[in-house]
Amino acid sequence: MQNIYDLVVIGGGISSSTFIANILKKGFNGKIAVVEAGRGLGGRCSTRYSYKDKKLALNHGCPNFNIKNSIKDSYLDNFIKELLDEKLIKSLDNSFFEFDENYKFSKKFDNEFYLGNVYTSTSHMSKLVENLIHLYNSKDQIDFYFETLIVKLSFKSELWNILSNKNKEIIGKFLVCSSNLLLHKRSLEILNVREIPLREAINKENNMKIDQIIKLTNKQEYIKRINFLIHTKKNYNLEGFFNKEIVHFVFNQKLQKDIGFERIIFQKQIDNSLGIIIHTKNIDFILNKYEREDNKILYKYVSNKLNTFLLKNHITFKNLLLDDISRMNWRASQPIGEGIPERLQLCNEYNIGFCGDWIQLEGYGSVSGAILSGLKLSDKFIEFY
Ligand SMILES: Cc1cc2nc3c(=O)[nH]c(=O)nc-3n(C[C@H](O)[C@H](O)[C@H](O)COP(=O)(O)OP(=O)(O)OC[C@H]3O[C@@H](n4cnc5c(N)ncnc54)[C@H](O)[C@@H]3O)c2cc1C
Repeated sequence: MQNIYDLVVIGGGISSSTFIANILKKGFNGKIAVVEAGRGLGGRCSTRYSYKDKKLALNHGCPNFNIKNSIKDSYLDNFIKELLDEKLIKSLDNSFFEFDENYKFSKKFDNEFYLGNVYTSTSHMSKLVENLIHLYNSKDQIDFYFETLIVKLSFKSELWNILSNKNKEIIGKFLVCSSNLLLHKRSLEILNVREIPLREAINKENNMKIDQIIKLTNKQEYIKRINFLIHTKKNYNLEGFFNKEIVHFVFNQKLQKDIGFERIIFQKQIDNSLGIIIHTKNIDFILNKYEREDNKILYKYVSNKLNTFLLKNHITFKNLLLDDISRMNWRASQPIGEGIPERLQLCNEYNIGFCGDWIQLEGYGSVSGAILSGLKLSDKFIEFY
């Protein structure tokens, strides 16, 4: 007889870990399955560990997050305070610098990720998500299914039955989707299915909320990004003022067009070597030029651009030598278009809920929105349960 979970959560990103932490905190004592396509937790807040040395780690997705409009005693602020008290996050103040189109430091920030209070993980971003999900998991209520890509959903006899591309079946009484992939037409290509999985599970005109959420989700598009991940030889330091554990160089819109990079992040590693992450958003420019070429040419271009930038700013390393360089393609780094109204987050007729940065809340398309969506859904879920 197959295990029936009280709750199945698809996706192991920051929105679902927030949701799970909060329902556990509020006393939910059911059994939970977390089902994640990737090898570990994190989602877009994840970290890549070096093949050569597992101790070396670079945040290949989101490196930090911010709360633009901090309101004392608000729901989100209380949660952030809890994360600070638990030492899961720390302030990034004094570690980020914005450059203008003349390659000069600008006083004013125009990058949306650095407005208000800016935070990062005290370790790696994946670790933040992992620690968060276990914050109140003292009774070991969660089973994890990694490398499990869900391609089919069905709802029969009040139970959700979810099926992976490798025919792994998981059954639960309540389902939470933390990604909109299973509602979106891009699933047809990505999951290689004939119908949008949620649509197949709940046919049209059976439920107004479900019809609306599928309709609105399909109007959303995503920003593509490419990140380059670089390990340097040992014992390099940014010198002088920039000799810190983490440094973010952020470029204003005009400079991004010129340099082709969105930001460069320096992240000191445990063995004292320096990791470098370059974020690019202007991907057509890069892809058109290099996609069909050897990666080596692309990487040479990236390291030349990096060196030009550093030299222009008199930022020097002692003998900067790149050890290895790889890249991460983010087909869907942030949603654009209207978010999904919060009132559609939970559908009690079908025992299903939704969270993630694609819900229309303050911080839509970013970590703070994803966290808020997890907090809001946890309230709705506890009330419903
Ligand atoms: C390069 C980059 C830089 C960013 N920079 C910033 C920043 O500086 N500040 C900021 O606030 N935000 C930033 N963001 C956005 C931020 O990362 C996201 O808003 C946030 O992480 C979203 O969290 P989430 O839980 O909603 O979704 P996700 O992290 O995407 O979690 C959803 C999870 O569901 C899994 N999943 C999806 N479909 C299935 C399936 N069918 N079966 C199994 N698992 C599935 C996915 O693998 C994923 O792990 C950045 C994003 C990227 C990619």
